[in-house]
Amino acid sequence: MKVLMIASECVPLIKTGGLGDVVGALAGALARGGVQTAVALPAYESVLDKFPAEPTGLDVAVSLGDRRRSAAVLKAAVDGGVPAYLIRNDEYFARSGLYGTAKGDYPDNAERFAFFSKAALELAAATGPWDVLHCHDWQSALAPVLNRLGAGKQSAKTIMTIHNLAHQGLFPYSEWPLLGLDIKYFTPKHLEFYGKINFLKGGILFADALTTVSRKYAEEILTPEYGCGLEGVLRERQRNLRGILNGVDYREWNPESDNFIKNNYGPGNMAGKAACKQDLQQLYNLPQRPSTPLLGIVSRLADQKGIDLLLDIVDQLLAMDLQLIILGAGDEKYQELIAALPAAHPKRIGVEIGFDNALAHKIEAAADIFLMPSRYEPCGLNQIYSLKYGTVPVVRATGGLDDTIEDFDPLSGKGNGFKFAEYSGEAFLSAIKRALAVYVNEKAWKHVVANGMAADFSWERAAADYLQLYRQVIGVRAAAAQLRA
Ligand code: ADP
Repeated sequence: MKVLMIASECVPLIKTGGLGDVVGALAGALARGGVQTAVALPAYESVLDKFPAEPTGLDVAVSLGDRRRSAAVLKAAVDGGVPAYLIRNDEYFARSGLYGTAKGDYPDNAERFAFFSKAALELAAATGPWDVLHCHDWQSALAPVLNRLGAGKQSAKTIMTIHNLAHQGLFPYSEWPLLGLDIKYFTPKHLEFYGKINFLKGGILFADALTTVSRKYAEEILTPEYGCGLEGVLRERQRNLRGILNGVDYREWNPESDNFIKNNYGPGNMAGKAACKQDLQQLYNLPQRPSTPLLGIVSRLADQKGIDLLLDIVDQLLAMDLQLIILGAGDEKYQELIAALPAAHPKRIGVEIGFDNALAHKIEAAADIFLMPSRYEPCGLNQIYSLKYGTVPVVRATGGLDDTIEDFDPLSGKGNGFKFAEYSGEAFLSAIKRALAVYVNEKAWKHVVANGMAADFSWERAAADYLQLYRQVIGVRAAAAQLRA
């Protein structure tokens, strides 16, 4: 079995969010499971600056309208030595950002990622044959389309994984010549979406199978509330759509071996967690009281993450005897509002605006309670990390949050966190209050913490599900070939 991942992010080389975590870790887990795996990735400037990459001697060239553009292919290694082919075209990828700057998206993203998808298919042709091309999000969503309709089509089956349906790759009709496709495909039945070109819609329609990153999100995206306008197209392909919950990389996120945190700890020895809490309280000049509940947030500051709910309730929350530490970066309006909180609530809150992996680990270890009030959440990783760190999640029951968190029932002792359903500050606050009520009952709290720490969301399970899917799509092809014969 040979699988080529085509994606715009992959840890450890480059990540802006969960997509990068998933691609790198899944590739590694598949390789450990005996699948011959590689990743195709743009050669961003920061990757070339930070990681060793060797030339492969391979060049790929593609047409974009009436232009020809080429790329040199370099090779780096990701998890466990899985090869990452870096597609190097400095006109497109030697920039400070991946998709844009703080001011907005790069204006030539249609061209950059049409180029990337086409170049990845050329790369696949030169290094294959591959059984499966596994594409991730809109940045590689033209690959399934062009693999079916384009000039260089191959026998490989394509899988399209949707990590976040809100990002679709929408571009004006004037960019159509870049795709090199017949104009007959610019219709609502194909790639057109309210007068624009929709890359992800193409991937959804032309991939052999679709996945998304949790079971609940796979259901939700079939509805107008979560479907972002693509619910109809997704319903058409419902039979080929599956939710496979992401795993997490416990080599990186494990309090027993984490190098970023003050003290290591584990289920049998929780003293280290108290030391981590004290360390962070000190860092943010908060009173170092072990019994005061410490709440943590690590998040992109975006509408998706329910930051408006947090801002709705933050004054009421901080009127209680608790502490809150927030690490986040994103929308300017949220950054400003959150950065202003410590002045209004000294001794209750610590805030860090920015992206800081070490601090993310420290917060997971130090906090008693982790907050994720997301409006929608395809999978979510932080609540899963929280479980492992004995940090009890309070989450909204949506997408992967709903799949991974079970509401704690003090009577039966079952459950690993606290959930609320309605998207309102009131519901969020009441879930936090339920958590705090259990927190003061030491025995019950030990229970909910232990339940979370015992859970196993490692990649091996998810990789096995993907492998089964790959076999299925290849099996379909084999059966079809037999029929023709
Ligand atoms: P999303 O991909 O929607 O941002 P996920 O929960 O799936 O959300 O993944 C987010 C990943 O990015 C996690 O690994 C999380 O720790 C990390 N992360 C998010 N914001 C920050 C930040 N400000 N600093 C450090 N890490 C962050």
